[in-house]
Order: sequence, then C-alpha cells, then structure tokens
Amino acid sequence: MAKQIWVNGDLVPPDQATVSVFDHGLLYGDGVFEGIRVYNDRIFKLATHLRRLEASATSIRLNLPYSHDDLAAAVRQTVDANDCHDGYIRLCVTRGAGTLGLNPFVCKEPFTFIIADAITLYPPQLYREGLSVITSSVIRNHPSALSPRIKSLNYLNNILAKIEALDQGLFEAVMLNHEGNVAECTGDNIFIVNHNEAKAPVLSTPPLHAGILEGITMNVVIGLAQQEGMEVTRTNLKQQDLYDADEMFLTGTAAEVIPVISLDGNTIGNGKPGNTTVQLINAFGKLISSEAPED
Ligand code: PMP
Repeated sequence: MAKQIWVNGDLVPPDQATVSVFDHGLLYGDGVFEGIRVYNDRIFKLATHLRRLEASATSIRLNLPYSHDDLAAAVRQTVDANDCHDGYIRLCVTRGAGTLGLNPFVCKEPFTFIIADAITLYPPQLYREGLSVITSSVIRNHPSALSPRIKSLNYLNNILAKIEALDQGLFEAVMLNHEGNVAECTGDNIFIVNHNEAKAPVLSTPPLHAGILEGITMNVVIGLAQQEGMEVTRTNLKQQDLYDADEMFLTGTAAEVIPVISLDGNTIGNGKPGNTTVQLINAFGKLISSEAPED
C-alpha cells in the first residue's frame, strides 16, 4: 500500500490526497498520465516517460506546472518516501479545478499527483502459460478523433474493449483500427513472430500510424530483439496475420512481456509460449534486473 502520495509538491497520507469534484480530469478525463516501473531502486526509463508525458500535455494544450527535472525529482522523492524498491508509479497531471463547462482554460492550475505502489496486471502463471485474448468489437480511437499517441486520462475506449474481454473471462482484447488493421491491446502493444527455416525469426508489430500508443516497453523490446539478431518489421497487420502467426506476445510497462497463446479461440503456434517470446522475456528480465536504464 502506498504510504505517501505526492500532491502538487507535498507528500501527504493517502486519505489526504484528494481531488476537487470540479477538476476537469474527473469531470471530463481532461489530463495526461504515465505508468512507470521501479526495478531494484531504479526508475526504469524515467526520462523517456517524462518526455512522453510532455508530448501528451503539449498535444492537449496543457502547460505542465513542473519542469522535466522537477518531475524527475518528485518521482524519486515519492519512490523514496514509500520505500518502493520494486513497484509501479502513476504520475498524473489533470487540467485542474474549473467550472461546469468544457472550457479547459478556466482551470487555473493543473493538479499533479504521483502514487508509488504495486501493480499486478495479469495472474503470474499466465507469464509462463500464456494469455488467451479476443478481438474486441470496439475499434481503437480514430487518430483524428483522439490520437492514441496521447496518453490521456480518457481511457473509456480501452475500458469498453476490456469489458468485452472480461465478460468472456479473459484479461485482454486486441483492438483493430478504423481501417480494420491491428492496432494494440487495451493497455499493451502487440507483436507477432514468424519462423523461417533459413533465417532468424521475424518480429512484426503495427506502425505508429496504425493508431497506437508509442509504447516504451515496445521500443525496449525492439532494441533487445535486434541485439539478439532478430529482424523487426513495423507493418500493418490484419487479424488473419495474428491467427497465422507462429508466436504472439504483448508488451507494456505494467504487463512487461507476456505471451499470447490463443486469439478468438484460435490457437497461436503450438498453443505454448514460443521460443522467441521466451528468449525476449529472458532478455527483458536480464535488462531490468541488471542496469534497468533510467533514460
Ligand atoms: N498501449 C496502451 C493503450 C497503453 O495504455 C499502454 C500502457 N499501459 C501501452 C500500449 C504500452 O506502453 P508502455 O510500454 O509505454 O507502458
């Protein structure tokens, strides 16, 4: 349990970390956030997360009330105050308290808070056995409506898809985009792996223009795969490409790297986490247990 929450510059006990009912983050989902992991006292990819937060804020014309360095120091202070050696951080900046109308510019001060706690996204045995997922009937937000590149507090698009999965007793759903191409899962990016006798395995993952969040874990895994001599392609994928893949896995800060063994009732590969996926899970595990870079 979190002991101290960082709220607008102060550390306060959780029961004193309260937000106004007039906050536009609450009224309209108007705000931005990041989810960040702590591994062995190191705040994994902190600088990259802060850069994405800054880009999200710029996209919604929210002026962050703290500099990059101030936010980095605040995250560290929160981690220390909670003795959080391995955990999960939620950093949110809302538009702040305003009036009962959409106009964001009546909100005087953004509201910033940081929670350092733990997260378990999927049951641990699924990391060994693999997830079963469905394709959601809910398509990912059209990039011209609300760009999936913006990590905003408005997650209803993803939540509606997640409900569809949960209704079927599953934890994740693949979301297609408005063109019928594969976008991402409700909180993770998607990779498939195809084997090829003559060459190294080929990883494929949708391009940013498919309407996805630019996952920080996704980029780390692409780097690891390339270091392991694998080929990585960023290409539009159809649902059928996922059904036909030899392996499939998801990446995300909370999810880390998790194998997928079935989609819409179709077995992926041989129904077990694939060798390439396991190799990447191990490479990721090695990275976070050794240097876990903060930049
Ligand atoms: N897509 C969505 C919609 C997400 O919410 C997330 C983060 N939970 C991701 C992808 C993965 O991004 P990251 O690896 O940066 O956590």
